[in-house]
Amino acid sequence: MVKLYDERDIAFSRIRLKQDTKAYQSYYEKNPSYREGDDAIREKDFLKNLKKPDLFKQRFFPIFSQNEHIMQQFYRTLEGIETKEKTHLPKNFHENIKATLKHYGALDVGIVRLKDHHYYTHHGYDYDYPKQVYGQKIKSRFKTAIVFLMPMDLTYLKRSPHIETTLESMNVYLNAAYVGLRGASYLKSLGYRSMFQSLIYYITPLVPLAVDAGLGEVGMHNHLIHPKYGDKVRIGAILTDLDLVEDGPIDFGLEMFCKRCALCLINCPMQSISFKQRRVNGKRFYKFDDQSCYKIFKNAGTDCAVCIQSCPLAYDIGYDKVMDAKNNPEKIDAIIKAHLENHGRRPSIKTPLPLVEEK
Ligand code: SF4
Ligand code: SF4
Repeated sequence: MVKLYDERDIAFSRIRLKQDTKAYQSYYEKNPSYREGDDAIREKDFLKNLKKPDLFKQRFFPIFSQNEHIMQQFYRTLEGIETKEKTHLPKNFHENIKATLKHYGALDVGIVRLKDHHYYTHHGYDYDYPKQVYGQKIKSRFKTAIVFLMPMDLTYLKRSPHIETTLESMNVYLNAAYVGLRGASYLKSLGYRSMFQSLIYYITPLVPLAVDAGLGEVGMHNHLIHPKYGDKVRIGAILTDLDLVEDGPIDFGLEMFCKRCALCLINCPMQSISFKQRRVNGKRFYKFDDQSCYKIFKNAGTDCAVCIQSCPLAYDIGYDKVMDAKNNPEKIDAIIKAHLENHGRRPSIKTPLPLVEEK
């Protein structure tokens, strides 16, 4: 049976529900098993728990605190762009648009024809764009998703769980929105209704979409892993009425790689990761405890990316070498051994980066 995703079920949506509201009552009447665990971690803004003086927060939070506002402006900009008369496009336009998004800053791009199961059934996680939409049915439909990956800087992620991780996370959300805005604006100018997804507005979950668009496989930590760029990527997507040649899912042997590695599971400070697999709509995911994972966000007051920094595939092994090791236990073990020798079991760094270093 096809599973439909509901955005209200994701942890970031659940923990933003206020206890004295109808939305809270209604959600936990239908999903009582989440209530106790969610109440223990319920907090809209985990950043206020960052263990730094107020002055530090006053100085450095503005590095990213306007990002949501900027993204709202991006949506307004897109709304203001007219969908023009249709332009005749060449047969290889799927290649043109991929190259264009790379020109805008994407690392890699894949295309998938949208089906009903790609969409969330209802809005959750409410950032008030374009208005309060929590709980509303998602009725919008587009023909095609152009999914792209944005680079994340490992020097920030290696500081996890410290403020640098949040800085990079918020930075790349904004970068993805920017590429999305430019791509969607371009397609509207060519005559095709288009929108982009971003941190403040999703109508489809992105990881399954990226898998169907051939951008990678899902690792044991449930993040997307690209065969060349690893898991130090963030996903963006443009939804459009333009028909494009689609890509298919890829297999670079990640299932065996993860089985022989498990470094994310070993390093996760909250034991949130499991080696037990679950299948959703034919795709491989892993069981995952989102409540314990979110606890570290709340306790540390920053994002956590220890699992991402732990992954050998984030360390530029090289596409050819990864493909050569596909389903070959000896070659996989050699990659993991070399990673442990070069970077250690957990390649974290404690010294702050210059943008938040105080002297
Ligand atoms: S983000 Fe941190 S706590 Fe969550 S799964 Fe990854 S390592 Fe574990
Ligand atoms: S750290 Fe290892 S087990 Fe975890 S996702 Fe990466 S390759 Fe898979």
